[in-house]
Amino acid sequence: MSEKSIADVNIDSLEIKDVININLLQTFQNNFAESMDIASVIVDMRGIPVTKPSYYTSFCIDYVHSTKIGDKRCAECHRKAGEEAARLGKTYIYTCHAGLIDFAAPILIEGKQIGTILGGQILKKKIDEPTCRKTAREIGVDEDKFYEAAKKIKITKEKNIKAAAEVLFIVANALSKIGYEELKLKIVHKNLQQEVIEKESMLRESSEYNKLKTQFFSTISHELKTPVNIIYSSLQLLESIYKSNSEVPSADTFLKYSNIMKLNSYRLIRIINNLIDLNKYEFGFNSINLKNDDIIKVVEDVSLSVVEYARLKSIELIFDTEIEEKVMAFDSEKIERIILNLLSNAVKFTEPGGNINICIYDKNEYLLISVKDTGIGIPENMLDKIFHTFTQVDSSFTRNVEGSGIGLSIVRLLVEMHEGKVWAKSELGKGSEFIIKLPIKLISDEINTNNQREIQFNSNIERIKMEFSDIYL
Ligand code: ADP
Repeated sequence: MSEKSIADVNIDSLEIKDVININLLQTFQNNFAESMDIASVIVDMRGIPVTKPSYYTSFCIDYVHSTKIGDKRCAECHRKAGEEAARLGKTYIYTCHAGLIDFAAPILIEGKQIGTILGGQILKKKIDEPTCRKTAREIGVDEDKFYEAAKKIKITKEKNIKAAAEVLFIVANALSKIGYEELKLKIVHKNLQQEVIEKESMLRESSEYNKLKTQFFSTISHELKTPVNIIYSSLQLLESIYKSNSEVPSADTFLKYSNIMKLNSYRLIRIINNLIDLNKYEFGFNSINLKNDDIIKVVEDVSLSVVEYARLKSIELIFDTEIEEKVMAFDSEKIERIILNLLSNAVKFTEPGGNINICIYDKNEYLLISVKDTGIGIPENMLDKIFHTFTQVDSSFTRNVEGSGIGLSIVRLLVEMHEGKVWAKSELGKGSEFIIKLPIKLISDEINTNNQREIQFNSNIERIKMEFSDIYL
């Protein structure tokens, strides 16, 4: 999670009303105006009031602010005074465009001005009549009435003006401190909100994961129990034949049941190996044995060795390649396993009479291996999910194929060990295509982080038999 602090906040874009509560600003301003008996208002960076004016003179309210020009001049005056006060770092005492004495104190956060508290509308001495009349003409108000209103403005002693300016500075400082604390609180609140959102999403993910895990364990126990039951009943059958005849079963009978037992032993070993490997890879024990070799030959050999299996289910399997040879660094055992896994799925999910095409494309910097079938297809919303542990499109016990939902997770992990990518495209009822993208590179030293597989197989045939053991042909 990226925690925000005040340093991360763009203070230039901060508005005073977003940081300090307007009612609080109003209370501070009213108290100041009342205790000093002078006019006051708080403005933003543009000189626009954010509070209601307190103790404004009739001269300002009824005349200066009564016209657009007067109002604009005031805003400009307030903005400039605010900037000057921020530059000085203290109260700035000045004469406004209409000839009155005003003072401005900056409200700062982290040294940046977010607003200004203004006070004043007083005079040190009687206003100059010609200047006053000129201003009236410029802003477009009645000259006589304007001058009459100006004559009612309080004449204040210099020392009282200075005292009011000091108090204004104290008020501005207090507001700056409040602004800083409120901003800190807002950031803490935002961080907490963000944390809550993240925790909620983690909780959702974790309960989703738990649901998948529960589903996975019921599937896996079914997957483990079925071959064990078959092996056990085959053994019992052979035993009962032997007991009832008091002689060994015929060679045919023995072969029939030993084949069943062997096939189901493969199924058990496949599941157990997959589980062990998945656990190993997911915990980062990604042993990879890279060698420079011809990848086309490895993919072609493994594809051709499956042709017979596909034919038994009346599926035609065709291998095609853009290039005859490509020497690059890969782990042949892992590539075989990836291809076998994708092919066994393709056979599993394709009806008799269908096709499976394995094609290799050379894209100079990378190689694409496509395994395409004319099978049942995969719903759009499952295309990413199937590469994650425990996911099966049809997880019901009524599904008509066997499987544990971990094969594609292993495929993804093995492809990622090669710094490659795997993804699927599909159209329901029409077929699926699994594409593997592998970077083409050579290594100077063979990387051999050899890690023996738990159960080794003597030949490719054994491995294929194991990979295809959950397909009932
Ligand atoms: P499983 O052992 O269940 O086949 P996988 O991880 O290999 O586990 O596949 C996960 C799920 O992806 C399968 O249960 C199936 O629903 C779907 N799937 C995989 N390959 C194909 C394919 N070629 N055609 C249709 N569905 C497929």
